[in-house]
Amino acid sequence: MKKSKRMVRRSILQCLYAHLQDAYGLESTAEQFVQDQMSDREIDALLAFKSDARIDELRSALNRLEAGGYGTCLACKSPVDQNLLDVDPARRLCGSCEVLYSHIMTRGTGISLSSRL
Ligand SMILES: [Zn+2]
Repeated sequence: MKKSKRMVRRSILQCLYAHLQDAYGLESTAEQFVQDQMSDREIDALLAFKSDARIDELRSALNRLEAGGYGTCLACKSPVDQNLLDVDPARRLCGSCEVLYSHIMTRGTGISLSSRL
């Protein structure tokens, strides 16, 4: 079953919160964050001086959710399997592209995935 936008947003925020707690010992209450009681502006403020690959992934997932394109593979444009999104709501590639790109990257052909996405 397809999740509503609000549910997806909540699951992204949950991941973001878990990550912030792990990496930075976030003080804001989980309740506020996960219940989606923070505005994007408040979230921006909270993240202002924090930056790492995982935060970037999750922020970009939130942006795609707002702008459209969430749940669509960035490489082949087919829908990303819901089960994969349940595991990682910030996921950008479908199963087959993930396999393809990780194969290319481990072979070191010099194609940078992040610069292409
Ligand atoms: Zn794909």
